[in-house]
Amino acid sequence: MKNDDQIVIDKDKEKIDNICEECKNEDETVKQNLIMYSYKICNSCNISKRIFPI
Ligand SMILES: [Zn+2]
Repeated sequence: MKNDDQIVIDKDKEKIDNICEECKNEDETVKQNLIMYSYKICNSCNISKRIFPI
């Protein structure tokens, strides 16, 4: 049981820190966009990327 708990904690540490790769700001939306688009990006950066897709 304790081993399972540790694995979950390690996964969270690795993936979820809520820091946008574009603007380096911490934002709750980064986590959502990471799940949806596989990009660590906040909503404001995501919108600007959609308008100017490079
Ligand atoms: Zn951003």
